[in-house]
Amino acid sequence: EIQLSDRVNSIKPSPTLAVTNRAAELKAAGHDVIALGAGEPDFDTPEHIKEAAIKAIRDGRTKYTAVDGTPELKHAIIDKFKRDNKLNYEANQILVSCGGKQSFFNLSLALLNPGDEVIIPAPYWVSYPDMVLISGGKPVFIDTTVEARFKITAEQLEQAITPKTRLFVINSPSNPSGVAYTRQELTALAEVLKKHEQVLIATDDMYEHLLWNEEGFCNLLDVAPELIDRTVVLNGVSKAYSMTGWRIGYAGGPLKLINAMKKVQSQSTSNPASISQAAAVAALNGSQDCIQPMLKAFKERHDYIVEALNAIPGVNCPESDGTFYSFPGFQGVMERLGMASDVELAEHLLVKNGVALVPGSAFGTPGHLRISFATSMGNLEKAMQRLQSLGN
Ligand code: PLP
Repeated sequence: EIQLSDRVNSIKPSPTLAVTNRAAELKAAGHDVIALGAGEPDFDTPEHIKEAAIKAIRDGRTKYTAVDGTPELKHAIIDKFKRDNKLNYEANQILVSCGGKQSFFNLSLALLNPGDEVIIPAPYWVSYPDMVLISGGKPVFIDTTVEARFKITAEQLEQAITPKTRLFVINSPSNPSGVAYTRQELTALAEVLKKHEQVLIATDDMYEHLLWNEEGFCNLLDVAPELIDRTVVLNGVSKAYSMTGWRIGYAGGPLKLINAMKKVQSQSTSNPASISQAAAVAALNGSQDCIQPMLKAFKERHDYIVEALNAIPGVNCPESDGTFYSFPGFQGVMERLGMASDVELAEHLLVKNGVALVPGSAFGTPGHLRISFATSMGNLEKAMQRLQSLGN
């Protein structure tokens, strides 16, 4: 029998991808399933971005590029950081990777030694804990509640930090909660982080542009620029430009750390696809107007489903500030149906009601389900009708 590594045995496959696959299987077998598990926009990649990729192919830009990305893309990213975040990076402080996923993977592998602790607020993006584990690190979770709108407090952060803490991960607006931290909340967290110099900070800004809160986007470096020497900013084109399949993410950060992450990438994938990089240049340098229709649609759908979900007895759905997710609590429904876990509820919903949702325990927050509204209003209406019949 083949013996697998402890490393691979320490992790599990991505639960969000598993739900998407299971829904697709049931659909293929003829079941009427509405899939609300997807972690990607339902829009097509904007035309000018596709054209740039087609041109790159025609121009023969089909060879290896520099491991860390083409000079054009790195400049587009430097400009983006200046424009949107008032951050000034040199080209050697930027690393382009195969999706935001690889950016975080590079970071974990470059940073963590066995036993090093990484603080991850829950609910979290499903991949953080497993990428920490495969790197030998130890995820340390901070639990939050609906009442706190799934946000950690400065006191909670202070309590979670130990001499072994190497990294603090913050994702705002968040997958799966859709909630964003305010400037005031970030300032309080920054005060704690300033006191603990051994802690690096990863701010995952992947949903930066998918935001409808009043304050607008803000990250830890906006409120505490002095943390720049120990902060890595992660972002990418996947969500904002509906480019999930192109696989382009990027990181900006301290030179030493970026160099180490680049070394990891140089021995794994090398450069991200040259054609995708050309497309990402068009996304970042081109008109940003293409984001608006998507954002408008997400907000309309959000308003619809929050109201529809809150009308279901036993469901508590807080408003999102952005993204295309909401993360309602289903504890009341679970009690009514006599179900012990959200996994059981999700399975019931999939098989009996034909609605595919991801159980909150996959994100470290049981009792909730993640709903992706990256699907048509028609699908959402059908799904809400099916959910309204829950337990009747
Ligand atoms: N970060 C967050 C919070 C995400 O939700 C995702 C995708 O689901 C990613 C990073 C990675 O995105 P990708 O690897 O598709 O660019």
